This record gives sequence, structure tokens and C-alpha cells, in this order.
Amino acid sequence: MQKIRLFKPSVGKEELKNIKKVFKKSWLGYGPMVTKFEKKFAKFIGTKYCVGVNSGTAALHLSLLCNDFKRGKKVLLPAITFSATAASVLYCGLQPKFVDIKKEDLTIDFQDLKKKYSKDCVAVICVHMGGHPAEMDKIKKWAKEKKLLLIEDSAESCGAIYKGKKIGTWSDIATFSFEEKKIITTGDGGMICLNDKKKYEKIKSLSFHGWNIDPWKRHVRSFGSKNKFSKHWNYEIQNLGYKYNMNDLMASIGVAQLKKINSFNFKRRKILKRYLDGIKKLKYIKPTYPYELKNSSYWLFSVNTNYRDELIDYLKTKNISTAVHFVPLPLNKLYKKYKNKSLKNTMVIWKKIVSLPFFPDLENKKIDYIINCLKSFDNKFN
Ligand SMILES: *Cc1c(COP(=O)(O)O)cnc(C)c1O
Repeated sequence: MQKIRLFKPSVGKEELKNIKKVFKKSWLGYGPMVTKFEKKFAKFIGTKYCVGVNSGTAALHLSLLCNDFKRGKKVLLPAITFSATAASVLYCGLQPKFVDIKKEDLTIDFQDLKKKYSKDCVAVICVHMGGHPAEMDKIKKWAKEKKLLLIEDSAESCGAIYKGKKIGTWSDIATFSFEEKKIITTGDGGMICLNDKKKYEKIKSLSFHGWNIDPWKRHVRSFGSKNKFSKHWNYEIQNLGYKYNMNDLMASIGVAQLKKINSFNFKRRKILKRYLDGIKKLKYIKPTYPYELKNSSYWLFSVNTNYRDELIDYLKTKNISTAVHFVPLPLNKLYKKYKNKSLKNTMVIWKKIVSLPFFPDLENKKIDYIINCLKSFDNKFN
């Protein structure tokens, strides 16, 4: 058996067709395709506004930055997440406060969240880990009481519905990632979704050098304006912004990917069902998440075993890729000083989890091969 990849983006002729259109126009940078993708994505998620950026990391950074929080204030976030969730806090001169996760689904533990709250907290970032929704209903209500800004880091979930409401509409600001491994991709890319007009305008400005107008609007104004003598070349630098914008090339891929998102999530559910049925009877290998497939958008197929490292080595000999999502952030050098004592579940569960190959185009033959390898590993202990 050939090496089986962990992730693989699904791209095809629809994406190529859109890329060709952009090439034909010879307008690759910030332009009308970005606006088109933003509008379509906003409609898909169900927020008033969207800002396309060049990564999920940039999306997180701007979601915090647009609030002008005082430096040194604290942001609550789960101890197990991708590194960028916490980096965005440090970028803004804020301090991460790590919250324990639930053993059952690796999302932020609401009980511990309440315990970790202090008056100097300004925001809470929830992560839909592996695509499993965090308990947004409880957290939203509580965050409102405490006047905390609520951010959904939805990089690992796109298109899912939680308790009747789309993921990405539960919070003040939601961020998505279109990095090549995520649910949909633009190569690299990200999106910020929100309903607040003022913050939307600020984020838009921050994503393009802090200017008061985007370059496509300026271009249009230079020829399309009724007033021939409008100073189309003029712009004002209002904020210390970044070069974080999405471009037309990325957006053209995104528009094609968005059309396929429901079928991607459908395929992901089917694959998960096959995996879950296949490993149902195993004693030493269990699913990490309580996979609830209806209306889901899972990004990871993860299992949980006391023999994690042995399993990883074994699967390596079978040409099956694996990974650990993720080593707890407070165990990393940069975040050690933010470690706190009550991260009990975090410190136990991370040693047991391993992610297995999972992407929409994973063939049944390969899934069955992986299941058989898991079975023979499990059998060794019987
Ligand atoms: C992938 C990911 C990000 C970062 O997205 P990029 O597009 O790679 O910058 C942020 N948060 C989580 C939870 C992620 O999985």
C-alpha cells in the first residue's frame, strides 16, 4: 500500500476555470473576486459582513485587534488548540489565560472557564476542536453577562449547525481558515464574519495597511466617478494596519470551493460513519470525539488510546500518516509562563489522542485498510 496522507485538498476543474478567468483579466490582487467571495461566504454563514484575509491567523489577530483592548488584559482560551489561537492574543499585547478542556470532546470546559474568569479578562476564544462544536449556547449567555467579547475560532469547522444555529453565528466575531488542509481551501486564506458595522469597517481597514479605502474601490473611482476631477489617488492612513488582505486569485478558488462545501461535508460524514462502524468493537482504540454526524463539519478523525505512541509507530510501518492535534500550548516554551495548575483533563487526554487520515476523497478501500490495521493493533493486547 502506497503512503496514505493525513489530509488532501479536493480541487479540480471548477477551481481551474475560475483561476483562468482571473488570469484572463490580469487582475490578481485585491479586486472584485474578493468582494464576491466575501458576499457569498457571508450569505452561507449568515452574518451581515465578512472580510477576506490571507490566513486564519490574520483573521484571529484582527478580530482581537479591532477592539482596542488595553495591553496586558487577559483572554480566555482552551489549553489545547492550534498555536495561532494563542499567538493572536500575544500579537495584541494581551495575555492568554488557559482553560481546561472536556475529556469527552476536547472543547473548552465551561465549568473551568467560569473558574478562570477574573475582572481583567476582556475576551474568550472558543475553538470548535476537530470540527466538534464548543458549548456555544451556555458560553454565549455567560460571556454576555460578563461583558466579554466572544470569538469563535472556527478554523476547523465550516458549514456545521449547532443547536439549530450555524457555527460562526454564535459569537461577536467568527474566524475561518482556508489553509490547504481545512474544510475548504484557497491555498492559504481566512475569513472574518461579524454583524457589527463599525468593527467590520475597522477590520477591513486593518487588513489593508490601515487605509480608509480599498484599492479596488480606488481603481473604480478613478474611471467610474461622475466627478472627473475626484482625487481617485487619494487615501488616508487611519490605522496601523497590516498587509493581510485576500486577493482575487485566492478568492476565485474560494468561490468554487464554497459551491462544493455541502458535498465535502457529506463525504466527510460518510467516511466517519465507515470508520466508526469499523472500530466499534475495538477495546483499546476509541473515537476521541462523540461524533454527532447530523449537520456536522468534522475536520479530524481522531482516536484515543493508552498506547498512542505505539500505535503511531505501528501505523508508520503500514504507511499510514498520523498526527497529534495538539500538544497543549502551556507545554510549549513560549507559553510555559502562562501555565496554571487546573488543566487536569488537558494534561491527561493529549497523551492519548492521534489523528488518522481524513479528507473527502479518501477511498473506501483505504479506509478499510486503515480499519484493518487498527484491528490488528487492538488484537495484540487481547
Ligand atoms: C488552522 C487553524 C488556525 C490558523 O489558520 P491558518 O489559515 O493556518 O493561519 C487557527 N486556529 C485553528 C484552531 C486552526 O486549526
